[in-house]
Amino acid sequence: MTGVESSVPRIDTSRPHSARVYDWLLDGKDNYPVDEELGKQILSLSPMAKQGAKDNRAFMRRATSWLVRRAGLRQFLDVGTGIPTEPNLHQIAQAGAPDARVVYVDNDPIVLAHAGALLHGTAEGVTEYVEADVRDPRSIVEQARRILDFDEPIALSLIALLHFVTDEEGALDHVGALLDALPAGSHLVLSQLTADLHGADMQQAVDVYAQGGIALVNRSRAEVERFFTGLDLVDPGLVLIGQWHPELADEEPHGGLAPMYGGVARKP
Ligand code: SAH
Repeated sequence: MTGVESSVPRIDTSRPHSARVYDWLLDGKDNYPVDEELGKQILSLSPMAKQGAKDNRAFMRRATSWLVRRAGLRQFLDVGTGIPTEPNLHQIAQAGAPDARVVYVDNDPIVLAHAGALLHGTAEGVTEYVEADVRDPRSIVEQARRILDFDEPIALSLIALLHFVTDEEGALDHVGALLDALPAGSHLVLSQLTADLHGADMQQAVDVYAQGGIALVNRSRAEVERFFTGLDLVDPGLVLIGQWHPELADEEPHGGLAPMYGGVARKP
């Protein structure tokens, strides 16, 4: 690639992309007809898909707020950030601790194109964006070290990311490598789709994404739990995201439960 070509965003609008389909589900504007088409197929399979995406954002807000206010975390490494959606993670973190430092990581160029919206933080805090792939944890750590102090606890968030990383690609090892780089007192927060609920629909969703060229993997509760090996899950443990500290919600409950597991754990 020449320098000129590499400065042009590499956004391929001929194929759907996970970040843009998710943006469509969240009623965002940063998606293309191919993404909308896939999103509509998912919605026809699973009428609660849009609500599920919103519930996942709500889980992110509750977990981030808990990490700042209850666990005292001041540094965040958010991998698989997604297209900016208000409020973004740094806004939640810096509302609780204005000096919070946040590094966002995604591998989709469209997220980079919109990263400006992720970088307006408090004067005391820091927000930074890094383009990297979770399957290359060493590169993430190397780049994040410029902004975060790896001798102090860091909250690693992998929210609605790991269902796009298969076991064959080494999902467990990559998460393990990221955790190995973090000191004691660090936390892992993640959410992940499951077919333990609405099994047939969730299996069909895998096929719909596959037709769009996106590998989606549902994981059972036991499979998700493996990501927390060696860590201490905080109360209430690994649960459906709607069941994770619902009392911290910033909006009215709607009664449904999205087919996603979520949990927060501390590195001893
Ligand atoms: N964490 C956000 C967005 C989830 S959508 C939220 O929960 O609201 C999943 C995001 O993961 C997308 O932005 C997609 O681009 C990103 N992603 C998918 N595969 C990735 C990979 N291998 N490395 C880094 N990011 C990835």
